Formats: sequence, C-alpha cells, structure tokens
Amino acid sequence: MEKYPEKVLCAECRNLQSYAFSVEKVQRVWNGVECSFNKRVAICNKCGNRVMVPGLEDYNEREFDIKFREENDYILVEEIRDVLTKYDVEKRPLSRVLGWGEHTIENYLKGQLPNRRYSAMLRRLLVSYEYMQRFYDENRNCLNDHAAKRIGAKLDYYRSINSHDSAIETIALYVLNSKYEITNMSLQKLLYYIEAFCQILLQVRIFDNRCEAWMYGPVYPEIYDKYKSFGSALIQVDEIDLSGELDERYRKVIDFVLNQFAIYNGVTLKDFSHAEDPWKKAHAGYGQKERCEEVITHEEITEYFTRMHDIFDLSTELGVRKYIESLGVI
Ligand SMILES: [Zn+2]
Repeated sequence: MEKYPEKVLCAECRNLQSYAFSVEKVQRVWNGVECSFNKRVAICNKCGNRVMVPGLEDYNEREFDIKFREENDYILVEEIRDVLTKYDVEKRPLSRVLGWGEHTIENYLKGQLPNRRYSAMLRRLLVSYEYMQRFYDENRNCLNDHAAKRIGAKLDYYRSINSHDSAIETIALYVLNSKYEITNMSLQKLLYYIEAFCQILLQVRIFDNRCEAWMYGPVYPEIYDKYKSFGSALIQVDEIDLSGELDERYRKVIDFVLNQFAIYNGVTLKDFSHAEDPWKKAHAGYGQKERCEEVITHEEITEYFTRMHDIFDLSTELGVRKYIESLGVI
C-alpha cells in the first residue's frame, strides 16, 4: 500500500483532519469503451466530506488503467517492458524491427493505449520467439549492428531451449508447458518417473537417453545442460502445443505422472529418488557431496518400478500415493 499523509486539509472543516478511505463505483469511458471502476476516495473523519489526498489521483489512474486493459484484453505496460527484456532490445529498435513508427513503443510505455492489433502482436511476442524471428528476418537491416546482434543472440538462445528434435526433448517441453512450476531439478526427476511409468504401464521405453545418479538424484545430462541457464529458477519456455507430436497413450501416462509428482518441488522429488533403489545402487560408494556420474540403467529403472507396481499398483492414484508414503520422505 502506498504512503499517504496521516492528516490532510479538509475544505469543510477548514483545518487538518484525519480521514478514511472508501470506495466509490464510477463509470468511465476511455477510447470509446465504457468501464466500471471502484475508485478509492478519502472521507474526512470529522465531517464526512470528501478530502483531497496527494497521490490518490495517480493511484486511481494506475488502477483504472490496469483494470481497463485487463477487461478489454489490452497488453499492460508491464508486459511491454517484459517484451523488451525478453529480446534484450531498446524501445526504438523494437519499434523499428516491428516496422512501426520510431516512437510507438516509447509512447506505449508512457501509457498510451496501443491499438488492438499492435497490442495482440506485443502479447504474441511474449509467448513466441518464432513470431519475433519473422520480424527479425524481415527487418533486421533497419537495426544497427549492436541491436541486431543482441536480439539475434536472444533468438538463438530461445531456439535452443525450445527445440524438440528428440523424444526426450519433446517430453521435457511438454512438461514445461504444463500448469506446474518446474525447475531444472524437478524436470530431471519428472523425466525419470515418466520413463519408469511408460515402462510399467505401457511396456514402452519412451526414450533411452543416458540417466546418471548425480548428487541431487537422477539426471539426464543433455536435458540438464539445455536448461542449466535457469539455475534453480523456474524454467520458462514459449507456449507450444505438442499434443500432435505425442501419442495419446503417452500423453495420458505423462499427465498421470505430472498429476502425482509435479505437485512436489525439486528438493522433495530429489528426496524421493534418494530413497529409491535405482539411484541408491548407482550412487553407492560416493559421498554425499561427491561428484558422481554413474549410469542408472534403464533395466534397473524398469526392474525396480515393476516390483513397486506389483506391490502398490502404480496405475492408480491411490497406489502412487501409498508408494510415495512408503518412501518415508513426506
Ligand atoms: Zn471535515
């Protein structure tokens, strides 16, 4: 909440008075569209009349701006800033690469409402680097070398983290497009459970990439390296619909694994894996803080989870819950 003075001048009482905030419903028309808005007003505690509070008008303007944009589906100023950050680009080069007037972005950042089409374009830039790539390929000659290089480097980076040329990459991207918050640490464990569950529920080895028993549990090094720029932060990729690239049977199992396991954070998933034979066996002989790159074999994963499936019936939510409880971690 913003800082306001404790007392302000009341025109009615003719001296400084304390006041309380109240809400007044108002209708406003902006750019030809009507929008109802709960305006915050200040009321003198003594006489009950309206008083002026410094900063309150600005507050109401800002709130109205946000509400209007949200209701009418216009991009927020904050989101436009996110576009600049995403592509490491300044206001003018962004205007130029989009083929807009030199000052367009600058004006939007100052609060001018974009037209609908431009607003939708900016939104799309936020979720699709490929969309930016098209403008870049077309208009990069309008940019100076410095700006072109910076945007180009970002586009290269987004291409690398959004690529899906192999089964494991596609599945990783599918996981990252789910509703769950995923870090590199949790992604590795989820891939491991996806491998295990596809094996026991479908008898399919969905990918056969090398899995290693690292300090923090099972890791698929090529996927780990691909997303290591995120450190321990949440991984953010562009929105992509991969349903056409994944067999429905696989998707069902992956969704099942996500529903059961992606609700836990990376550290908890790491603890699960530390209680499981495949990691324990591969990691045996290594100290807690010692670098270990021993392979966890696919056979080991299959054998262990088949055994657990026999005991708990891992095709059901209840079975998975009981299995997780049996690990003694939570
Ligand atoms: Zn008063």
